Amino acid sequence: MTDDSVWQPLHEALERWSDAGRVADFWLRDDDAVEPTPALDRLLDLTGHYDVPVTLAVVPAFTGEALAARLARAEHALVVVHGWAHENHAPENEKKQELGPHRPRVIVLDELARGLAVITQLHGGRAWPLLVPPWNRIDAGLIPDLGRLGFKALSVFGRPKPAPIRLINSNVDVMDWHGTRGCRDHVLLVQEIVVQLKRAFAGGDPVGLLTHHLVHDEAVWLFMQRLFEVTSRHGVRWLSSRAMPAQQSCISGG
Ligand SMILES: [Zn+2]
Repeated sequence: MTDDSVWQPLHEALERWSDAGRVADFWLRDDDAVEPTPALDRLLDLTGHYDVPVTLAVVPAFTGEALAARLARAEHALVVVHGWAHENHAPENEKKQELGPHRPRVIVLDELARGLAVITQLHGGRAWPLLVPPWNRIDAGLIPDLGRLGFKALSVFGRPKPAPIRLINSNVDVMDWHGTRGCRDHVLLVQEIVVQLKRAFAGGDPVGLLTHHLVHDEAVWLFMQRLFEVTSRHGVRWLSSRAMPAQQSCISGG
């Protein structure tokens, strides 16, 4: 399959939006940053080149001034809170969780408050009180307390469920975590974006691309570059997570 035919379905989907006089929204979340690295430089250069705002979910326990100094030169980067130490507290036979029900809630909430304080102190106006739970999992019983801690929004993966806080979910993950641990098949990724665009056209959530710059292989970088190229040609709007509208499905649930 040629590169052009891989991307043809996305061209067609975006033409549907422009024919209707509408602009599709996309946003990008990238997880696990703690310090400047060549991979982070590559991410910031690539997104900067295409004017794509990037929301970096940073692990508070292990980050510091060096990342803040690097991001001072990256106006399109926003910093949010990626749990506390990205540490798994679930037993081996369960999916990994840092913010699960395995520890007393007061300890978990205290870590989250510290995480928000660290990120805000290091990044000032570039910080935004959005919580990205490690492994995209959080005990539902903790969510009602996030607002009291100062969080304005929560971002996990997949279709939003009713929640007592603004949800800004990612929904297209480029990584093949259970197989090659490299990029997923480009054809499938384009297909997923097209499906998400159809939902968005009918009033659903925008396309939320999820990346992990520290583990990208060349196929991921190529996919991102081609996606930015195609979307910029179609005048798609890449939004900062701070500018994202609240997701429809989460408002009413209380
Ligand atoms: Zn993570």
